[in-house]
Amino acid sequence: MSESLTFSQLALPEPLLRAVTELGYETPSPIQAAAIPKLLAGEDLLGQAQTGTGKTAAFALPLLARLDPAQNEPQILVLAPTRELAIQVAEAFQAYARFMPAFHVLPLYGGQSYTNQLKSLKRGSQVIVGTPGRILDHLDRGTLKLDKLRAIVLDEADEMLRMGFIDDVQTIMDATPAGRQVAMFSATMPSQIRAIAQKHLKNAHEIKIESKTSTVERISQRYVMLDSNQKLDALTRVLEGEEYDASIIFVRTKSATEEIAEKLGARGYAVACLNGDMNQANREQTIRRLKASQIDVIVATDVAARGLDVERISLVINYDIPYDSEAYVHRIGRTGRAGREGKAILFVSPRERRLLRTIEVATRQPIEKMSLPTGEVIEQRRIESFRETLANTIEAKNLSFFQDLINDWREKLETTDADLAAALLFMAQKDQPLNVAKQFPEIREPHARGDRPDRAGDRPARFERGDRPERSGDRPERAPRPRREMQGNYNTYRIEVGKEHGVRAGDIVGAIANEANIDSQFIGNIKLFDHFSTVELPADIPTEIFQHLKKVYVRKQKLNISVDAGGSAGERTERPAGDRRPSSAPTGAGPRPGAAPKRRTRE
Ligand code: AMP
Repeated sequence: MSESLTFSQLALPEPLLRAVTELGYETPSPIQAAAIPKLLAGEDLLGQAQTGTGKTAAFALPLLARLDPAQNEPQILVLAPTRELAIQVAEAFQAYARFMPAFHVLPLYGGQSYTNQLKSLKRGSQVIVGTPGRILDHLDRGTLKLDKLRAIVLDEADEMLRMGFIDDVQTIMDATPAGRQVAMFSATMPSQIRAIAQKHLKNAHEIKIESKTSTVERISQRYVMLDSNQKLDALTRVLEGEEYDASIIFVRTKSATEEIAEKLGARGYAVACLNGDMNQANREQTIRRLKASQIDVIVATDVAARGLDVERISLVINYDIPYDSEAYVHRIGRTGRAGREGKAILFVSPRERRLLRTIEVATRQPIEKMSLPTGEVIEQRRIESFRETLANTIEAKNLSFFQDLINDWREKLETTDADLAAALLFMAQKDQPLNVAKQFPEIREPHARGDRPDRAGDRPARFERGDRPERSGDRPERAPRPRREMQGNYNTYRIEVGKEHGVRAGDIVGAIANEANIDSQFIGNIKLFDHFSTVELPADIPTEIFQHLKKVYVRKQKLNISVDAGGSAGERTERPAGDRRPSSAPTGAGPRPGAAPKRRTRE
């Protein structure tokens, strides 16, 4: 963690500082502390950073600071591999620039109508965030002008490489003015990414947040994979289902400490927050109350909880993933004090999977996957806890007044002790109902690429084929073979865009990966013909996605995808596929069902 640095020390202009404060950011993350001064000084930068480290603000804040507000043409271009990331980055720019007058950011990705995009482009935007294919389309059409561009950012460069976008990225880079600033972020640094950096970056600073290895003993560590919008639900389950004396919940922002403390308070927890806005007296009072068991749950930011030493804390919940392994070790070190055992639970979204692995490597300890307590478990725990309180009451209290009342009521109401006890139990449990197993439906683990929920009406449901395998290091790009358990039937499909339209394999992979949300590893052999192309895809694409893909445009051509009727041996007319769901039956010279996709065609 950056121990003492503040955002104001980073010399960011006032409107940006105000936005960051309003968002509840207390201190810059390590990647921000390292990158912001360099980018503010106009230098090029190569940053090795994963999602979850705060990399978006690391480039957005300094580049916004260098923007000319009077100029309404694109000054910053961010290239991102997926539409989810493009939207996320555009939203981040909007949030950081909220106090910059007349600021406009425009996300441009495939699947959106060109008409709307053209309208927005005409209105003018200083920042464009887009997927490479769509940006290239606009450059080709002359609808996007980059001559006023001051900076270009390649976000998740290794991911763009993996998805086959890298040729497009190069073409776009070549179309930008020579003097522009370049920032490139990548979770891994394969040789192709280094080659691009060498070609396009001038005297680039390379930033890598080192993961110091340090071990943490006596602390059992587990993680839960979930979408961001499932976190609050998951938190309340963990607090109900886990045994602990006191717990500390770590979040990233001041606002989140307050919001979550309020929500837990409303659910009956003895909770308080600990953040950088509190003065020393307030902070000390909160810690005293925690030690005295007047509070059982603390919601804190990293900085506010630094050095906290309270033996009662036996559970640490990482609600927001820490920026790096060092912060993680600091956090979980709040438990297991004075030789006691401690537990740590980490919430991870699919996009943060890499950061989880980095933390595991740095701490040299596996973090075990856990499932959230089910409704049955929560019900059992509530029943046990009630029974315990009941036993204590029977043992410790003089109940003669109440026994007399029961004797009286049994007669007057002409009922039994069992009925009386059941009715009283029913009344006593109302605030914390006991019969709740069914009120806690299963929280399903997300599998898809992004961690954003689908936007209604924006696109068809996700097509999930399981988790993407981890990929590391300097491996050359290739169309990877699917993992064995994911091998299914593949069909050859025909799409109505070909060489004469200037299409490249990368365009097709990108469009299908983004539009159908099919991981690129499930996109097989692509053959380019003059007037059309063929592509191998899983045979069981859901109908709505298949229908959606028909309407997708690549290089200005509607894909009009159909099951390939006669193999790819040459040009021929299309067999109409109609509304039919693509069949998994062998089709012409296409691959046999069950055959794995072969290496992708490269031009
Ligand atoms: P990123 O790694 O850019 O995807 O950012 C991950 C999350 O961290 C986003 O939700 C950001 O809003 C949040 N974030 C980024 N920087 C900070 C900061 N300095 N303090 C608190 N939260 C931050």
